[in-house]
Amino acid sequence: MNSISVVIPLYDEVENVPLLYESVRAALDGMGREYELIFVDDGSRDGSSELLVQLAERDARVKVIQFRRNFGQTAAMHAGMQAASGEIVVTLDADLQNEPDDIPMMVAKLEEGYDLVHGWRKERQDALLNRKLPSRLANRIISRVTGFPVNDLGCTLKAMTREIAHELQLYGEMHRFIPILAHWHGARCVEVVTRHHPRRFGHTKYGIWRTFRVVLDLITVKYMIRYSLSPMKLFGGIGLLSMAGGIASGAATLWMKLGGAVDMTGNPLLLLSAFATMLGVQFLVLGLLGEVSARIYYECQDKKPYAVRKLWNFTEPTAQISAPRRAA
Ligand code: UDP
Ligand code: MG
Repeated sequence: MNSISVVIPLYDEVENVPLLYESVRAALDGMGREYELIFVDDGSRDGSSELLVQLAERDARVKVIQFRRNFGQTAAMHAGMQAASGEIVVTLDADLQNEPDDIPMMVAKLEEGYDLVHGWRKERQDALLNRKLPSRLANRIISRVTGFPVNDLGCTLKAMTREIAHELQLYGEMHRFIPILAHWHGARCVEVVTRHHPRRFGHTKYGIWRTFRVVLDLITVKYMIRYSLSPMKLFGGIGLLSMAGGIASGAATLWMKLGGAVDMTGNPLLLLSAFATMLGVQFLVLGLLGEVSARIYYECQDKKPYAVRKLWNFTEPTAQISAPRRAA
């Protein structure tokens, strides 16, 4: 049976820690598997850190990563996922809003053959106006833009294979995009309805402003998914279009001049052709720089522009299979 790592990012949740530990432990003990609990203490200053250390001293299955300061939920999530050693990695909020008793169901779903199972807080217990409505709208937009069918990206309760957990690189607020990033890496994803409780202790760390930050991250994610391997396709396309516009308006200007117009300095078409041509050159150069940085990104870090699910009749581990180098 697969072992389980539960990753919990945590920031100032002192009242929740004891209850959380008990309920997660109860849920995992009931499954009869090997497990570890990884708490990532994201710079708490309310006594959570001391409580976690006590738990770790009492229970060897409790592991604690203590950050020097508050680096944010994404960083905490990333650190915990990287440190996970179980074959299945489950992520969970520390505030008891997720239901630990949903873990067995998520794991069972994963073991049906998925790489990632993500929760949908269908009956979400948060404020309607400044949390649920913006979140619903954001999920709609993200789903449309990325073409990934999803109802709720904000639910931390997820289960994934260790390979996926170790592969994902999270920046900014990107823990919210985990299912989309995983899908991009070729993971088979599925959404399941999970329970959700109102916060009993402590307070939420986010407000309405998060929605805007998420929208900005969406642009990054869309770019990474669609163009990161070949930025020239995006910037070069815009550059060529702009140059074509510049040439067309330049030709029109010339035609007007030959047709007898005397004063060309005040002609907007002349300005447009100079502007559009310069913009076109800049976009093309931006595309070239993008291509160079994409090569640096993939080759310096030995990243692969593909993901291998499984190998047959190979003796070396998957990680050794190197990327086919493209010419120049
Ligand atoms: N969290 C964290 N670092 C932060 C903010 C939040 O580790 O900078 C943790 C927090 O302790 C909780 C989870 O991330 O376990 C979700 O946070 P919160 O409940 O505030 O978000 P919400 O449920 O309101 O979306
Ligand atoms: Mg919460």
